[in-house]
Amino acid sequence: MTDLDVASAPGMVGEAVAGGRLPGRVWLYSNYHCNIACRYCLTESGPGVPSRELTPAAMLETAAQARELGFTELGVTGGETFLMPSMPELLAQLSAILPVVVLTNATLFSRRLLDRIRAVSGLPVALQISLDRPDADPNDAMRAPGNFDKVVAAIPALIERGVTVRIATTVESIADAELDRLCALHRGLGVPDSEHVIRPIVRRGRAVTHALGVHAELPDLPAELTVTAAGAFWSPFGPTVRGGVLDTDLLLTRTTRPLSVPATIMLALMDARPPGGDSTLNIR
Ligand code: SF4
Repeated sequence: MTDLDVASAPGMVGEAVAGGRLPGRVWLYSNYHCNIACRYCLTESGPGVPSRELTPAAMLETAAQARELGFTELGVTGGETFLMPSMPELLAQLSAILPVVVLTNATLFSRRLLDRIRAVSGLPVALQISLDRPDADPNDAMRAPGNFDKVVAAIPALIERGVTVRIATTVESIADAELDRLCALHRGLGVPDSEHVIRPIVRRGRAVTHALGVHAELPDLPAELTVTAAGAFWSPFGPTVRGGVLDTDLLLTRTTRPLSVPATIMLALMDARPPGGDSTLNIR
């Protein structure tokens, strides 16, 4: 397949996904701003940074095109996704197109937002919440003061409302005994082991400033088509920010719609890769 063969993208993408050659998930970067500023944040997110938002209309259109092409899942990430005012209702709409996982720091769940998130109860939407340590101090040292307490309060409140919750733990390393306590904590909050992922810090964005994490290059990163307001990227670890500037080393194309354009480029790059495992660093 060449990068000019856009017209045949639907069949090719569907075949590649069905055959397990291409991951089925398309990521959407809803926004880049955040209410906190974690030390390892890939996107240097925080209060007051440029929000670089994808509009809800653009996300819905991209999602519909993703389904048409043969992709099978959506991921929504940021920035803090729930700073987008319409996020609960948007997730319900997106999940009518494809199942969705949305990444969140879970610190904005006021009573009002908890009421609104009922919109996704029973729908194929999972909230993937960051929780790194079983104790407040070391957890909050990497994230923000009060983060731990807000997260452990939000998780059962979300589950009570019928929302599917996953936990993502992002660490340089964690001792067995500490991990055991973290797992006991998430089980106690109602999240089973099958919904807990542990992943390394990737040395991009603010992690570079603090000399944290593992160096990762294209072969180390999951080949998951990722759409931002500024273009389409090889992986959700691609559209990172360094010194306030968007990284473009993993940019596929500035053209995001029709989605067949970046999907075709992605497939051509996949075909050019040597056979073997997609990732050597367990980055996900
Ligand atoms: S890692 Fe997530 S929660 Fe932390 S600053 Fe970045 S976007 Fe916000």
